[in-house]
Amino acid sequence: MNKEKIREFFETGFDNGRINFEYILEGKKHSKVYKSKMKYYSKEAIKEFEEWNEQGYGIFYLPNGGGYKNEEITDFRACFVDMDIKDELEHEIVVSGFTGARNELQELVKARFNSLKKEQTFRYKQSFNERIIELEEMGIPPSAVVETKNGYHVYYLLEAGAQRHEFETIEGLLIYIFNADAAVKNPARLLRVPNTLHLKEPNDPFTIKLGIFKRNIRYDAEELIVRLKEIIENVNIKMDSQLCVNSNKAPTYNNKLLPSNKGLPARIGIDYSNIDIGNISLISRGFEGLPELKSRLGVDNQPELCYIDRNDIRQFLKRQNLKQLLGIESDRFLCIFHNSSNSSSGNIYKYEDKWFYKCHSSRCGVHYDIVQVIERMTRLPIHKAFNYLKQLYNIAEVKTEWQMDQEQLIDFNIEFLERFKYDVDLHNNYPFLSKFLRTKGTLSLLIQIHEVARRKLPQLATMKSLEVKNTNAIVFAPIRKVIEEILNHDSSAQNINKANTKVIIMIFMYLLNTIGIDELPDEMQKKVKEYQKSSFRNGETFRNLARYYEIVSMDTERLMLAEEMSKFFYSNHLTISSFKREQLLGLCGVEEANRVFPERVEEDISEINQRLSDLIYKLVIMKIGVQGWTCDSEVVELLRMENIDYKQLYKDNFKFNSNRKSELDLLEVNDYDKGFQCWLNTFLLRKMAAYMPVILVKTGYLKARVNKELRRRLNIPLHIKGSVYHQTVDSEEDNDDKASKIRRLKQNDTSLSNSKIAELMSCSRQYVSNVLKRQHR
Ligand SMILES: [Zn+2]
Repeated sequence: MNKEKIREFFETGFDNGRINFEYILEGKKHSKVYKSKMKYYSKEAIKEFEEWNEQGYGIFYLPNGGGYKNEEITDFRACFVDMDIKDELEHEIVVSGFTGARNELQELVKARFNSLKKEQTFRYKQSFNERIIELEEMGIPPSAVVETKNGYHVYYLLEAGAQRHEFETIEGLLIYIFNADAAVKNPARLLRVPNTLHLKEPNDPFTIKLGIFKRNIRYDAEELIVRLKEIIENVNIKMDSQLCVNSNKAPTYNNKLLPSNKGLPARIGIDYSNIDIGNISLISRGFEGLPELKSRLGVDNQPELCYIDRNDIRQFLKRQNLKQLLGIESDRFLCIFHNSSNSSSGNIYKYEDKWFYKCHSSRCGVHYDIVQVIERMTRLPIHKAFNYLKQLYNIAEVKTEWQMDQEQLIDFNIEFLERFKYDVDLHNNYPFLSKFLRTKGTLSLLIQIHEVARRKLPQLATMKSLEVKNTNAIVFAPIRKVIEEILNHDSSAQNINKANTKVIIMIFMYLLNTIGIDELPDEMQKKVKEYQKSSFRNGETFRNLARYYEIVSMDTERLMLAEEMSKFFYSNHLTISSFKREQLLGLCGVEEANRVFPERVEEDISEINQRLSDLIYKLVIMKIGVQGWTCDSEVVELLRMENIDYKQLYKDNFKFNSNRKSELDLLEVNDYDKGFQCWLNTFLLRKMAAYMPVILVKTGYLKARVNKELRRRLNIPLHIKGSVYHQTVDSEEDNDDKASKIRRLKQNDTSLSNSKIAELMSCSRQYVSNVLKRQHR
């Protein structure tokens, strides 16, 4: 054997002959691998090869450089194929109509291979040679051909600088052209060293032979790809060709020619117009390629499908066969979203009735649905990619009349609400409503609730029963979910409760409308009940949160009502944090309380709360009877001196404050414990804020800020600051005089403007406006 020729093959073929060699134990179930320290094809190496051959090891080398693993390979020196008789046998069996399982097929191939006669083996090898020659005649001669026991290794040396994706592409093309072993294509492939022994059947060793070697035949990878592609097209036209016989090996390869400016991440730089798999290049052309794609998929004459809800369209699209859309037949293939070297990284699969694309490579790992796949391939912006799919499958997105009407209502409302931020006239028309809406976060909460309702409209529109019931836009979620959606996700329960209280006040003011559960469509009723059930254990406050509401029209009539209610709210000293059902029961009666808290219609006031409110009532009357006035802190002090075991009675409330939970868990918590005392003080003050408005209405007492005059008249000590409750109405009389004068002025001359009257009476315009409004009631 010509050792010089082999040395030349290694030295000129592969980076001046610097090569990694490996020895693999053959003919055994578990092969052992040994990495040789030899780096050149030298006399010493040859000696070592012989020694290892004698021990039953096959001698291999890595044509490509950079390491031993696929991902380590950086120097792509050659492309190669392994033509093997077993591949021919397999193809023959498949073509003859075999449909069994993969392992059955392999058994069959093995059996047929073992029964081959010498001259049959020879004939197969001859036909391999003819293929190599046919390709050579088409202008692509091999750089080297190595004869193996059952076939040939054919080499096409590459010029320096070939890229991984180019190598992969060429491998795919060559395997198809030669019907070569589909496994022999990875960058770190091991191939047999010429002039060493093939020992898979130890009793029938075979010496690997270097046949042809032409050192000057080298290919530019990019050019080779173009030429091989041309050949594949020609071969498909020519009938007598022996190439490209096995269509199962038609490349599902990556043919991604990256843009020449390197440094772009591979996941973004892929040029889909260059990928010859199925419909991919057609899809990459976007709307321009749409008519042809529709006819390829046979959906060009499909009747139009109408959907109201975009989400339904999304669901429909996910049910479309993704493999068919892309024109990819195999389940596993080279991922098309990154430069993969793993021939089975890409995977299209069906889960339940939906299709997905998954890449199993850790470098990429994408997991896409149909919309994302199309977004990547067409490079269209999100809405256009969606429209592309809608056009492809002939889907119309329609809006019902109700839906359009509601959308408009929501738009008008939002526009109107936005004006509250700056419109002085609005503030003058609705002073109390403005005051309420300008309370921190209230206006934006109301606007955002409208936005949520807008998003939920399509879902509502699809509920058939809605058309019958003719309600306005309902936010299709328990209010708690809506509020959670509006506030960011990590909001505390406290924020959610605060926002919930604001929503209840908005309902109180007719800015929103509560929907009775029995008025809801059946589907929603079920959800409410489920939700109520699940939140019961959280205590009564959460029962409010299972409600649904309606967006109302903010016309002038409605806003006048809202203004009246806002005024009521403020004139009765109601505050946002203390707004309660008990207040409403006391102030407005059962009907109003039921309107605002429909889910608590049957509910009685708890015994503890009733007892506490009675006690506050008693203490306030007593104090005002004695000294003519009282204040929150005074009453709280008295409440604490009562013989009531607050700790036991409000155990749950106290526990609710997680910071102090541990203290109360110890049963012998001291009554004088600072944490508990602090909590009790705040708790009682809150109770005062909740009950006092009702008590004031019942008794006719007034609430007023302490000023010099009041302090003098009621003899209020200096340390009392803020508001007090008192009985006298003296100072109001002066005001009534002023008020009646204003009314008279207006009656005498209706053309007088409020500001003119204010000037005449030397008071504020606001005061005039309030007085005149009061008159209309
Ligand atoms: Zn991938």
